[in-house]
Amino acid sequence: MKTTVKSLEGMRLNLFIDGRFVEPTSGRYLDSFDPTTAEAWYQFAEADANDVRLAVEAAQKAFVNPAWRRMTQTDRGKLVRKLADLVLANADDLALIETRDNGKLIKEMRAQMRSIPDSYTYFAGMADKLQGDTIPVNKLDQLNFNMREPIGVVGMITPWNSPLMMLTGTLAPCLAIGNTIVIKPSEHATASTLALAELIMEAGFPAGVVNVVSGTGAVTGDALTRQKGIAKYVFTGSTDTGRKIAANAATNLAQCQMELGGKSPHVIFSDVDIEKAVNGVVSGVFAAAGQTCVAGSRCFVEASVYDRFIEALVERTNHITVGHPLEDKTDIGPLALSAQLTKVESYVASGVKEGARIASGGKRPQAEELARGWYFEPTVMIDAKNDMSFMRDELFGPVVGVMPFSSEEDMIELANDTRYGLASGIWTQNIDRAMRFANRIDAGTVWINTYRSAAYMSANGGFKESGYGRRGGFDVMREFSRAKNVVIDYSGAMQDPFVIR
Ligand code: NAD
Repeated sequence: MKTTVKSLEGMRLNLFIDGRFVEPTSGRYLDSFDPTTAEAWYQFAEADANDVRLAVEAAQKAFVNPAWRRMTQTDRGKLVRKLADLVLANADDLALIETRDNGKLIKEMRAQMRSIPDSYTYFAGMADKLQGDTIPVNKLDQLNFNMREPIGVVGMITPWNSPLMMLTGTLAPCLAIGNTIVIKPSEHATASTLALAELIMEAGFPAGVVNVVSGTGAVTGDALTRQKGIAKYVFTGSTDTGRKIAANAATNLAQCQMELGGKSPHVIFSDVDIEKAVNGVVSGVFAAAGQTCVAGSRCFVEASVYDRFIEALVERTNHITVGHPLEDKTDIGPLALSAQLTKVESYVASGVKEGARIASGGKRPQAEELARGWYFEPTVMIDAKNDMSFMRDELFGPVVGVMPFSSEEDMIELANDTRYGLASGIWTQNIDRAMRFANRIDAGTVWINTYRSAAYMSANGGFKESGYGRRGGFDVMREFSRAKNVVIDYSGAMQDPFVIR
């Protein structure tokens, strides 16, 4: 991989279409900003509808190219495994690029980049295991079976918070199956996806199998979701954007997989070690400065330990280090966008107006060295109510609202009282209670005595307005392949042509 953080400084990045880096039709380039300084550090091309059309046509051509379509499953698996090795070999550079673009901690991005190759390897191993089935039918001397085949061109639109990790969950299985792909990365973190395109070329994937069209959501994203020739969209991002994409995709009857926002409940019962539960809540909502879709931002605490819990949470929060994401001692880096900072500030202010109280944080840090960046202190809001705006809407920042509950029944009602249904967490030593919660909570993921523990081997996805479709595990191979039914009659008999048999 030629691209590194150093080489990116001041560079203009092009689109990746049909195996080549090409300039955008419009000649337009946009700035990408470093959230620690609010300064532009490289430029990326903005693809318009013409570039998007060219990328989709390249992907369509690649889909039927014998070099890809007639590659054996074993060889496709080998190619995906090669990509895994290349990502691992370049993990440190990829981590630095993402940290510089989105401000997430280097230690977290390094850990992500080291786990992404495992995910590619996992799906590489499935390339030759996606099999059809024979179907018993109520007819003699017929063989009826389903073949499984790739679905075609898949459009992938990704967010800035973990660009390559979010991409891998569907790119890896799509490559293992034999689909072709057009990716639109977030305009706030474009470079790592283009660096990955270099590795895809180096691995030896045929031209056009993967294409990258960078640009804004309003121009490039919108064009991609209106473009004909796409079989399925994978969208990871906010619920409002998901709604627009699903509406555009419906025009062309394209399928969608939606991984959207959340406002996840995190429940603490009195029978647990409070320090461990506090640690779980901190990890659930303050990690990545709260910029995770699964953030446990609504915290419900059993009334008998409410005061003790708040005291411990505030004490722990007051000791969180806000700082530069490249420094080892930093716990929380900046928010990725200035708009994000303004949004978080305004929701905290409205929470106070609506009656919540700030028990810790609630403002930008005062330290001089953080003044230029988009930093916000980890914030604990107490006396929160489920109907306050900061408890209803996704903030995507380091803010947790805490409130007491008095019975299990009330807690379930409060926890489910949200339009979202992405994740949930519960801390209790009582397995019956934990399982009752797991049964009754409307969320795609339930964590018991842990939080934010993800695995690409298990199905992940949302309920309600947090989306639909699943990633992870073998089922994703079915989500991105299709069944074709084949019937062979070996009776040798002449059939009545006017009676369907
Ligand atoms: P976003 O919705 O603003 O943008 C996501 C992507 O969509 C970007 O690439 C953007 O350019 C594109 N986009 C924006 N408007 C578009 C349009 N009209 N047409 C087509 N594309 C468009 O989200 P974001 O701010 O980048 O990411 C944060 C959001 O993502 C949060 O809501 C978070 O919960 C969600 N998220 C969900 C998951 C999950 O797995 N459920 C994972 C990560 C992030």
